[in-house]
Amino acid sequence: MDQKRKDLDQVQGSVFDLYREIESIWQRVDRRSEKIDRSVRSPRSGKKIDSLMIIGAILAIFFLCIDITPAQNGVQRSGNRDRASRSSRKIERIDLAIVGGKIVTMDRDYRVIEDGYIAISKDRIVAIGSRSGIGKQYLPAKVINAKDRVVLPGLVNTHTHIPMVMFRGIADDLVLKEWLENYIFPAEAKNVSKDLCYWGTLAGCLEMIKGGITTYVDMYYFEDTIAEATEKAGVRALLGETIIDFPVADNKTPQDALVYTEKFVDRWKGNSLITPAIAPHAPYTVKPENLRAIKELAEKKDIPIVIHLAETQVEVDDITKRYGARPIEHLDKLGLLSNRLIAAHVVFANQQEIELLKSRGVGVAHNPQSNMKLASGVAPVPKMLSKGVAVGLGTDGAASNNDLSLFEEMDTAAKLHKLNTGDPTVVSARDALEMATIGGARAIHLDKEIGSLEVGKKADLIVVNLQSPHQQPLYNIYSCLVYATKASDVETAVIDGRAVMLNRKLLTLNEREIKLQIEKFSQKILRSLGK
Ligand SMILES: [Zn+2]
Repeated sequence: MDQKRKDLDQVQGSVFDLYREIESIWQRVDRRSEKIDRSVRSPRSGKKIDSLMIIGAILAIFFLCIDITPAQNGVQRSGNRDRASRSSRKIERIDLAIVGGKIVTMDRDYRVIEDGYIAISKDRIVAIGSRSGIGKQYLPAKVINAKDRVVLPGLVNTHTHIPMVMFRGIADDLVLKEWLENYIFPAEAKNVSKDLCYWGTLAGCLEMIKGGITTYVDMYYFEDTIAEATEKAGVRALLGETIIDFPVADNKTPQDALVYTEKFVDRWKGNSLITPAIAPHAPYTVKPENLRAIKELAEKKDIPIVIHLAETQVEVDDITKRYGARPIEHLDKLGLLSNRLIAAHVVFANQQEIELLKSRGVGVAHNPQSNMKLASGVAPVPKMLSKGVAVGLGTDGAASNNDLSLFEEMDTAAKLHKLNTGDPTVVSARDALEMATIGGARAIHLDKEIGSLEVGKKADLIVVNLQSPHQQPLYNIYSCLVYATKASDVETAVIDGRAVMLNRKLLTLNEREIKLQIEKFSQKILRSLGK
């Protein structure tokens, strides 16, 4: 036993020597960081860095295996190992580091950190600061180089119908009622299946990852299948199973849909990426008794509710005629306005209704491009923001937008409200970025976990290029991001601590296979419409 312990001590001593050697190599690497940062993308120097990473990772595994801390095995250390212990305490092993670049945190103080460093362990951010300040304290298993780039919280798309990418461009330039009743509902009735939802979700996730969206809120059918595809893509989502008064692809009655939803919630609740939810389509397509049943189920299961609300003047007139109250008041009477509700659109809200939304803690998904395309109207977003209502940005489905780009929505939101109010000071570039990040997280009631880059939060972030011609010169980062940057400038996306896109290469999805499936479904959809 003594001999074994002696042998182990000897091995540990050697490992610590090696470890210190690695540490000194790191320090040398650090000193030459400028040079290495510039060359880290070339295959040769990439190999150099990779080799260091591999040695580091092997040592990290060895350390874990031999269980060397005194608290754990009570072994008295020699002087040699005490020094090593001090050295190992200085350096913490982490899974991933984002190194260099400008970090736009979107935290409470809107901190922007130059030449930053983000340490990630498993799915969470464990440290954030400047590279010179905290970089030496960590030994990452993997490194993402963000030099000359901006690091942002992953964008939050607060409203979409993801499989509708399959219906992109099928009917445009129509009023909502005609568009829905003559085109979308019939096309969906003939084509929506588990299969379409699965591939539509992968296609939507592909587009969203490439545009920097790391979390989305959905409202559609077969949400169980949508959850499977979303998990495969490695994207975070709040998925609301649709409840509607007429027969749809997955459920023939609202009662069937409630049973489906309960099973769906039981399967996914507690998943690290998926938050299951329930989604009554709208006050004009779901009668009060069904809305009450939905509220009861949401409370029983403690899940969010997603709904379209006060989207058009036609809806306001219709609901007022039917129930003697405008849509927002109608939902309040039914007890649906609460901090579990995410209301999409909310174009028609007067001052009193805005105050009601605030006091009930309702989150609002603002979809400027969809509202413009369907000429629904302009949501009173500056008033909502000044009253402290949580407002996020949404793309809506690809059939009414027609893309899933939050960079476009930020740009549009900022400009639309200036034009609408005649005041260029409303919805600043920073306000727009806030709605696409932490504001969106607040609107979907997930702001404790996502939406900003802060210690303890989920590691959901994107690395965005700043070198495109349309981004030059760079005077103000918020202006550059909102008015000039495109979805195609996003290079890398990390969700739940895992890289899902690296330098625009998808790591979880097969882009070619998805494109072939889109082609296959589009041919089928055209045939079903007699075209
Ligand atoms: Zn919608």
